[in-house]
Amino acid sequence: MPIVHDWLARRAALDPEHLALVDATREGRRISYREWNDSASRTAAWLHHVLGVQRGQRVAVLAHNRVETLDLLFACAKLGALLQPLNWRLSPPELVGILADAEPSVLVYGPELRALVDTVRSHAPSVRHWLCVESAGPGEHAFSEREHAPSTPLPALELEADAPWVLCYTGGSTGLPKAAVLTHGSLTANAANTVVSWGLTPDDVAVLNAPLFHTGGLNVFTLPLVYAGGASVVCKGFDVEQLFDLVHPGHVSLVFGVPTMFIEMQRHPRFDSVDFSRLKLLVSGGAPCPLPVFERFFARGVAFKTGYGLTEAGPNNFWLPPSHVRSKPGFVGVPLFHVEARIEDEQHPGDVGELQLRGPHVCAGYWRRPEESARAFTPDGWLRTGDLALRDEDGCFRIVGRGKDLIISGGENIYPSEVESVLAGHPDVSEVAVIGVPDPKWGETPRAIVVPRTGTAPSAESLLAFCEGRLARYKTPRSVRFVDALPRTSAGKVDRRALTATQGAP
Ligand code: AMP
Repeated sequence: MPIVHDWLARRAALDPEHLALVDATREGRRISYREWNDSASRTAAWLHHVLGVQRGQRVAVLAHNRVETLDLLFACAKLGALLQPLNWRLSPPELVGILADAEPSVLVYGPELRALVDTVRSHAPSVRHWLCVESAGPGEHAFSEREHAPSTPLPALELEADAPWVLCYTGGSTGLPKAAVLTHGSLTANAANTVVSWGLTPDDVAVLNAPLFHTGGLNVFTLPLVYAGGASVVCKGFDVEQLFDLVHPGHVSLVFGVPTMFIEMQRHPRFDSVDFSRLKLLVSGGAPCPLPVFERFFARGVAFKTGYGLTEAGPNNFWLPPSHVRSKPGFVGVPLFHVEARIEDEQHPGDVGELQLRGPHVCAGYWRRPEESARAFTPDGWLRTGDLALRDEDGCFRIVGRGKDLIISGGENIYPSEVESVLAGHPDVSEVAVIGVPDPKWGETPRAIVVPRTGTAPSAESLLAFCEGRLARYKTPRSVRFVDALPRTSAGKVDRRALTATQGAP
């Protein structure tokens, strides 16, 4: 059964003059749905008629967040082509690897990344056209040439729900980058789930400052808001001052970020005076958020929530009902409308097991990796998330950590996020991550890697004393290391693999 694949044309027909985008990278230029759709259509015509992009071919984009990436996203939808958003924090060999994997025929890049592009240019034989968004150097096409695209109509197109739309590469912190194939059906289901279950409306405006190459930037609010008819403020990336400038006067109602971003907001001197009252949703996701972060937002009267997801199933899978926001901080809540969720081997409420997800929002597997795709699903079609979770007696889910980050010490399970939440409550701790280190007697013991708050120099003893009475003895770290900053993945999460490599020696 074919699916409506060109949401933008549909939205532009329904509500042409409604605000769709605010381009914060260009002095707040305001773009209606009609203008956005025209721009995406011109882009599609140019890709197809001039650059020869056909249905099923890949178009890569390597840029900081910008409106042109969103034009390309919908240009691809109009052509049945696939967008391959590239993570600009990857090293040249990693980029070469994923370009060889997806074999895009066109690569569009921002001028800020020209140096990186130059290092990979001669190693990506599939790319026939290198296009710079803003200006063109020798041998380059400029993206602005799309303004002169022929007005010949695009070929008529029918797409099934399983037609791929976006190749979203997973973080790389969990192994070699591989692309989850996000289909028109899975992205439609994610949008529908979010709009219906989170209550998005045409009045909503979201800050888009999470990277568009990650499911967080693409899928938490950006695509669902097209479905709902709301708007996004496109920011180059996360900038705490800019965020406060948008939140304070009530220009935005929706904010999503990874915990690091909220920690940075709370550290900022403006945190206590910013008016959060017009925010409808402040959602943290992508990694466990320490409970003291929730407390500080609650103290400012903000209903701070946790979202949970992954590239393969989209970032929005649960919703914490308003009645539980304060009583169950850290819980992700109940499954969204079309999401099925289960805990492997669960016998009773509170049992911890692997979280598995099923539903039309789940991706179609990995691009060109049939064996890994098969391993990602159970025989009855549930996605194995690799995350450990529990469900309480009210049916609310809580993520307790990644299966592979679990520390097993003397046979006891220690979830790093629980220990991190306690230590994050220490007044001298700015950030903390807990990892397991090999131990001849216990197998593993927990170690805290701590970034002290500026101007403080806490001792290991004071931190361990702080855990007394707050954590069981076996969960209390056996050692503490102090660092200036925690290593991050490209999506801004703590990079536990790098941390274990540098700080995990016995
Ligand atoms: P990615 O595919 O890069 O979005 O990473 C997905 C992973 O991030 C999940 O499998 C989880 O391990 C982690 N994650 C996402 N949301 C949360 C959350 N609310 N709490 C804990 N971990 C999370």
